[in-house]
Amino acid sequence: MTTQIQHDVLIIGSGMAGLAAADAARAASLSTLVVDKGRRIGGRVATRRADGFTFNHGAQFLTARHPDFIAACDHARQAGALADWQVAGRDALCGAPTMRDLPAHLGAGVEIRQTTEITRIETDADAVTLHDRDGVVARGQHLVLTAPAPQAQRLLQDVEPDLAATAGTATYAPCWTGMYGFDVDMLPPAADPIRHDNGPVGWAVWEDHRPSLSAASAADRDGAGLVVQAAPDWSTAHLEEDSADVAQALLAAYQNQTGLELPTPRYISAHRWRYARVTTAAADGAARISADGRIALAGDWLIGGRIESAWLSGRQAMHALLDAG
Ligand SMILES: Cc1cc2nc3c(=O)[nH]c(=O)nc-3n(C[C@H](O)[C@H](O)[C@H](O)COP(=O)(O)OP(=O)(O)OC[C@H]3O[C@@H](n4cnc5c(N)ncnc54)[C@H](O)[C@@H]3O)c2cc1C
Repeated sequence: MTTQIQHDVLIIGSGMAGLAAADAARAASLSTLVVDKGRRIGGRVATRRADGFTFNHGAQFLTARHPDFIAACDHARQAGALADWQVAGRDALCGAPTMRDLPAHLGAGVEIRQTTEITRIETDADAVTLHDRDGVVARGQHLVLTAPAPQAQRLLQDVEPDLAATAGTATYAPCWTGMYGFDVDMLPPAADPIRHDNGPVGWAVWEDHRPSLSAASAADRDGAGLVVQAAPDWSTAHLEEDSADVAQALLAAYQNQTGLELPTPRYISAHRWRYARVTTAAADGAARISADGRIALAGDWLIGGRIESAWLSGRQAMHALLDAG
C-alpha cells in the first residue's frame, strides 16, 4: 500500500540550510516536514551542555553580507537569539545565549523530527518517499536535501546519479574540537579568542567571553568552559586518533601556546567533526535540482563553508523548486 502524500515539502537536515528552506516554504504557504538524524536542531551550529558546562563546539560566530541574510539576522537579534561579538571580528555575531539559539529561533513553529536518519530516498511519478531503517518516514511532493555532500552523495547515487556526482566534487577539512570545564573559581585568563591557521590550535575561546555569557553574574555560572579547535592540517593528521588522546593533546598545545598552567579540568572531551569546513564548493553558487523538479540540493557545500552560505543555499533551493513548479 502506498503511503499518502502528507507534505508539500520534505527537508533532510535541521541545520542552517534546512531551516532556511523551511522558512522559504512557509512563506509560500507550503506544508513542511524537516527530519534530522541528530538529537538537536542546528547541525554544525551546535552547543553541548555537560556536567553543568556549556560549550559551543561547532561554528563559533557568523557574519552577514547578503541583504536578505542581514535582515534575517536583524530579526534574530531583535528576538534576542543573536548578539554582536566584535572581539571575534568587526562585524561578527554569535548566537545568544548560545550558538544553538540561532537555529532554535529559526526553527520555531517548523515541524521537525530529530533522531530520524534517512537511509533511502525513493521517487515515483507523484512524490518523494523517505525511509529510515524501520520503513517509510514520510512522503511529500518535493525534497530539499541538505546533508553534508558525502552523505548526500550516498543517498542520491541510486535515485539521482547526476546530483550525486555534483555532491561528489565537494571537499571538506575536518576539525577536532576539545572541550574543557574548570571549576568556577578558575577565572578565564584571556579576553580575546586565539586564532591561528596552522599549529595544533586553530581557535580557542573561553565560553565566558561570549557576550551573552559574560553578562551572567559569577553566581549564576556553573564553571568556566574552554573550547579549543584544532587547525585543519592537525585535525587531518590526527583524524582517526582516540578522542581522549586528542582532548589531552589539544589542552597541552593550548597551554604551550599561551604559557598558561591550567588545573586539571573537571570535564574533558573532544568532538571529531569529520566534515567541518568546506574547502571546495561543489557548484558555482547556482541551485541544483533534479530534472523532474522534485529534489533540490542545499547546504554550505554548494556555495562556501559558512553559516551565511548554508542559509542562502537553503533558501535558493526552495525557490528553485517553486520556480520549477
Ligand atoms: C568546528 C566548526 C567550526 C565552524 N566555524 C564556523 C564559523 O565560525 N563561522 C561560520 O560561518 N561557519 C563555521 N562553520 C561552518 C558552519 O557551521 C556550516 O557552514 C553550516 O552550519 C552548515 O550548515 P548546513 O545546514 O549546510 O549543514 P549542517 O549544519 O551540517 O546540517 C546538515 C544536517 O543534516 C543532517 N543529516 C545528515 N545526513 C542525514 C540523514 N541521512 N538523515 C537525516 N539527517 C541527516 C545532519 O544531522 C545535520 O544536522 C564551522 C563548522 C564547524 C564544524
